Formats: sequence, structure tokens, C-alpha cells
Amino acid sequence: MRCGKIVCVGQNYREHIKELNNDEPAEPVLFLKPPSSIIADGEEIIVPAGIGAVHHEVELALIIGRRAKDVLPHEALRHVRSVAVFNDVTAREMQSTARKAGMPWALSKGMDSFAPLGAPVPLRDVEDVHCLDLELSVNGKLRQKGNTGQMIFPPEVLISYISRFMTLESGDVIATGTPSGVGPLNDGDVVEAKISGIGKLTNKVRAL
Ligand code: MG
Repeated sequence: MRCGKIVCVGQNYREHIKELNNDEPAEPVLFLKPPSSIIADGEEIIVPAGIGAVHHEVELALIIGRRAKDVLPHEALRHVRSVAVFNDVTAREMQSTARKAGMPWALSKGMDSFAPLGAPVPLRDVEDVHCLDLELSVNGKLRQKGNTGQMIFPPEVLISYISRFMTLESGDVIATGTPSGVGPLNDGDVVEAKISGIGKLTNKVRAL
């Protein structure tokens, strides 16, 4: 799928903040992934050699359909065209090292194939983005389970906040954060991310 920028939200579920020993943020934590990191359902997650542990993170993705600049929360969802299942693949050891050193996460989050994105579902076909079950399993074993209702900053707040600083354009993707249960991916693993009413996203891992 062709897309614009991918704006990712970190630390948006309390249980995930706890498992990584972080403090709850007062404002959304944002970072970017490049469009070149996107892969589709069925494509392989490629893990370069020597980068340490790589983790999965199931997330709800919002795909922008109409330009958004300085939008208010109550009008924000009008700018969303569709939603999709997303996996915010993360080189966790590299990210932790960068975090401690006060360095950016760009590389640990933005490698080729580190943004699996499922088939988009029109927002009008989704009953309520605030109440969707998220699940992720690796080789059939459940690792992550959560609900979009547990987000600290819900979708409309995220869009409004981001649009104060960065114009959101048609085709841009917002990844809204992951619930707890993140864990390592190894060569040959099959990762299946699911969101109720939206669908599933399956990718195999190939470690180089
Ligand atoms: Mg994430």
C-alpha cells in the first residue's frame, strides 16, 4: 500500500508502560516511521543480523482521508478514511540503548519491513473505534490482548494533538500504541495480529 508518513504513538496503554518501566506521559509521545518500512499481510518481517532483540507490538492504525490541521477532537474522526491492523515492529535493545543515551528511535523503529499494515477497513464499517479487541499471537500462542478503550489518549485526541504541530494528509497513518505483552520475535516465527471487526495481519519472521 502507498502511504505518507507514519506517525506512531508510544506509551499509550498503562499496562505496556508498566512492563517497560516507564512513567505515564502527560502528553502523547510521538515518533515517525518511514513509508519504506511498510509491508503487507503475508510479507516477511526481515531482521538484520546483529541488532539484538526485536519485539512485536499490535496496534490500531488510523488512515487519514482528508487533510487535518488544527482540528478539534470532536471533528477529528471525520478526517479518518479507514482503519487497519498494524504491527509496530521494534528493535528493542537498540531502542533501549538509544533511550538511555537520549538519542532518537528512528533506526530501531524504522527499518525496512518493520511496519506490517493490514488491509484497510472503511471507518464507516466499524461500529466503535473506542471498543475494539486487539490480540497478537506468535506461532499460535497468545502474547498480547487489550482493548482500544484502554488508550490513555483516544484516537480523536491523538489526531487533534498531532494536527496542532504536523499537518496530516490523505494517506498518512497514525499507529495508536500497543497494549502489554510485547515480546521477542525469532527466525521462522509466524506473527498474527488481530483486531475485532477489522481483520488479521499475518507475517513470518526471517532473521538474516
Ligand atoms: Mg508501538
